[in-house]
Amino acid sequence: MRETWLTLDTAALRHNVAVIRRQMPQARLLAMVKADAYGHGAAMLAPLLAEQADALGTAFIDEALALREQGVRSPIAVLEGVFTTQELALARQHDLQLAVHSPEQLALFEQAPAGAQIAVWLKVNSGMNRLGLRPVEALKAWRVLAQSPAVKTRGLLTHFATADELDSRQTVQQLGRFRALQQALAEADGVPVSDSLANSAAIFAHAAAAGAWMRPGIALYGSSPFAHRSAESLGLRPVMTLRSRVIAVHTVPAGEAVGYGASWVAARDTRIAVVAIGYGDGYPRHAPSGTPVLINGQRCQLAGRVSMDMITVDLGQVTARPGDPVVLWGDGLPADEVASAAGTISYELFCRLTPRVQRHLLADEILNG
Ligand SMILES: *Cc1c(COP(=O)(O)O)cnc(C)c1O
Repeated sequence: MRETWLTLDTAALRHNVAVIRRQMPQARLLAMVKADAYGHGAAMLAPLLAEQADALGTAFIDEALALREQGVRSPIAVLEGVFTTQELALARQHDLQLAVHSPEQLALFEQAPAGAQIAVWLKVNSGMNRLGLRPVEALKAWRVLAQSPAVKTRGLLTHFATADELDSRQTVQQLGRFRALQQALAEADGVPVSDSLANSAAIFAHAAAAGAWMRPGIALYGSSPFAHRSAESLGLRPVMTLRSRVIAVHTVPAGEAVGYGASWVAARDTRIAVVAIGYGDGYPRHAPSGTPVLINGQRCQLAGRVSMDMITVDLGQVTARPGDPVVLWGDGLPADEVASAAGTISYELFCRLTPRVQRHLLADEILNG
């Protein structure tokens, strides 16, 4: 059997939740599980996160309905909201919280029939210019929502464009616009307005963005939201470890090339290990020679192009035989490092894993095997 799998360390997940909670102790935790829990497998992690967090967050309603089908009973927020009356009806039936980010979505709520009521998050475009109503429009939308028979409670939500930059003027500006709107609404209503601003980067870098609800994603899974701060330095531990095995070892004489395109040439006689993982599993094809790979727990370097089912690795001084364990990222090799070598972010590495990679909740026998 082809041995390419990933393990999910539930102790690391619990640990990361605790680290995140310590950063913003007053905020409740909405755990982002969109895109199949960032490629980790929502079926496996959502029950645990449902227990550890105060709510879960998805991008689309289908993702939220899949969680309900799975038996997840905790609050679930759909952060891109719904797009049809049918979807709104489903959301009400399954008690899903919805973001409202556009005039079209607002109209769905205006026209909604009497029935079950749900929590809504009015999404404000405070400067990212992706989703959300501008503050002036949001002011009106807030009142419209108050009249909707589908609305139980209202909260105010925004998303930062540059929270991963440590002294970002844009973040300060977005925060200022959001707080001004929030205050105006609170004064008009005579009651405080529930808020949600912080993604992982803001949770670690912008204490002023604390609110009633924080919305971490990547930090839960143990990667860093920052380009220049390691996950370890934030106290986070990787949840996912991507594993495979050596399937062949041979010596390539000096001057000969390895792999498609003959892009890597041996400078000296070189021991090469062939590992059973490739872009067909989601290992990034654009990872260049030199990208780190752990074989028998020791750092080696990718040599030559990534194939669909295999990679070739320069063993250097490391000894290895077929069957020996390989870590592509995770325990002992941060995904952030591999991502950076491949010119991307760990979010993308995780999300691109294919169904060919089997997912296992961490059991000791797998770790030691
Ligand atoms: C994905 C997402 C998050 C989480 O972002 P991370 O950088 O993974 O912490 C938070 N809020 C919204 C609206 C998102 O789409």
